[in-house]
Amino acid sequence: MDASEISVRCCIAGGGPAGMMLGFLLARAGISVLVLEKHADFLRDFRGDTIHPSTLEVMHELGLLQEFLQRPHQEVPTLGAQIGDAFVEVADFTHLPTHCRFIAFMPQWDFLDFLSEHARCYPAFQLRMETEVRDLIFDDGRVTGLRATMLDGELRVRADLVVGADGRHSTVRDKAGLDVTDLGAPMDVLWMRLSRHPDDPGQTLGRVDNGRIFITLNRGDYWQTAFVIPKGGFDDVHRRGLPALRDEIAALAPYLRDRVDELKDWSDIKLLSVSVDRLRVWHRAGLLCIGDAAHAMSPIGGVGINLAVQDAVAAANILAPRFLQGAVSEHDLEAVQRHREFPTRATQRLQIILQNRVIGRVLKGRGKLSPPLALRLLGSLPLLRRIPARLIGLGFRPEHVKVPAAA
Ligand SMILES: Cc1cc2nc3c(=O)[nH]c(=O)nc-3n(C[C@H](O)[C@H](O)[C@H](O)COP(=O)(O)OP(=O)(O)OC[C@H]3O[C@@H](n4cnc5c(N)ncnc54)[C@H](O)[C@@H]3O)c2cc1C
Repeated sequence: MDASEISVRCCIAGGGPAGMMLGFLLARAGISVLVLEKHADFLRDFRGDTIHPSTLEVMHELGLLQEFLQRPHQEVPTLGAQIGDAFVEVADFTHLPTHCRFIAFMPQWDFLDFLSEHARCYPAFQLRMETEVRDLIFDDGRVTGLRATMLDGELRVRADLVVGADGRHSTVRDKAGLDVTDLGAPMDVLWMRLSRHPDDPGQTLGRVDNGRIFITLNRGDYWQTAFVIPKGGFDDVHRRGLPALRDEIAALAPYLRDRVDELKDWSDIKLLSVSVDRLRVWHRAGLLCIGDAAHAMSPIGGVGINLAVQDAVAAANILAPRFLQGAVSEHDLEAVQRHREFPTRATQRLQIILQNRVIGRVLKGRGKLSPPLALRLLGSLPLLRRIPARLIGLGFRPEHVKVPAAA
């Protein structure tokens, strides 16, 4: 083997939440694992900052929760929405059967840095940044490794198992020829930051009015905001111009009027083209996809990171014992899909119902809105707010870490 060829038990494409958590868990169990990440660091554009109670529970099970919560974050115990003139409390996390009864808002790069810092303590863990997976290596139809480009040449990796955790535009799933089912989405999202003042209102999930949806996430000294637009509507927004967008934001959240000028040009605004999809089959011999690579989620509920982490925990629980006993079979990979398919489908189903019945309709509508009956019930019956809290905070069938650390 030359210097640019290495051999590991498991090679993971993508150092996002799914890849880093799986890499951490396998290395912790003593299984040699290599994570390849195409970027130079984790410090990139905003791509979701929500660490839900289910992920915090995983951190607790790993004995890392206290240290993790020492990183700067905001704790959000309830979520609400401003619908027209009415404010409605939507979710109350304070009754969840978990150690943390709140969503922690923490930049995703801090979460990934934390995981990589701890993963590096295990000799079985390797992480190569600036290494982009380009192709898979097949032997008799079985995936036996991959090819990646580094800054100074090509890397060939031989692995018993290749995991595609390379996100919703996954190269791995593409090269593996896995079929993607597109479930459609009626919206795109414009993400932007605006500074936050001490006398601003508290945490709000969203403001819905006049055919517009605007989300504000309290990030301490700034608001991470999301402006939801009809699918493919960005050209329209662009044509109407930045002053018109600033006015629309100020109309939805008047307290931001004095700082919408912080949006100086279009580079301050990031377009998320929303897609909701999933693989029909998440695996083939020698290969498994998890996280967004297996199922891109709608941003509704901000559950993408947490589903990715849950996939990683389930994959480690099922596969680590098989690695330790000898080999991982396709039957084991199928077991991972079987285990995670119900939570994925059920979450996407709910997201699609909300997309089509609520968001799609709001975006088409005009004029003042009032909260629909379901939201009015949530507003007036506190017990009911525990249901969305459970769905958002824990999701369907939350995973628990079962793989012990290697002695
Ligand atoms: C703007 C935006 C806002 C979002 N907001 C939220 C939110 O508030 N809450 C939430 O839960 N989710 C949110 N999401 C979704 C969330 O980011 C994803 O669901 C989650 O990160 C999926 O994790 P993952 O590890 O599967 O994939 P990703 O996080 O996409 O990670 C994949 C990694 O693979 C790397 N990669 C890709 N291709 C290659 C390659 N060929 N070789 C090597 N590396 C590669 C990428 O650089 C990336 O680091 C948001 C997404 C976006 C884009």
